[in-house]
Amino acid sequence: MNIAEILHILACPECHGDLLLEGSEQNPQGLRCEHCACVYPIEEEIPVLLTSEAIALSDWQKRQQNQ
Ligand SMILES: [Zn+2]
Repeated sequence: MNIAEILHILACPECHGDLLLEGSEQNPQGLRCEHCACVYPIEEEIPVLLTSEAIALSDWQKRQQNQ
């Protein structure tokens, strides 16, 4: 499954807005909602679109820098 192909059918569970891919198509890391300033993680190629799993964008960016 290519995440880019299904991205257009996915929406933020909080605001139902569009999601943007974090990482690359080959190595997707998460789905970002600009409106909510949060990122939904992608675990083993499965997007976790749960508000309870959302990571604040600032925390996400810190996490990316630490890798
Ligand atoms: Zn949202």
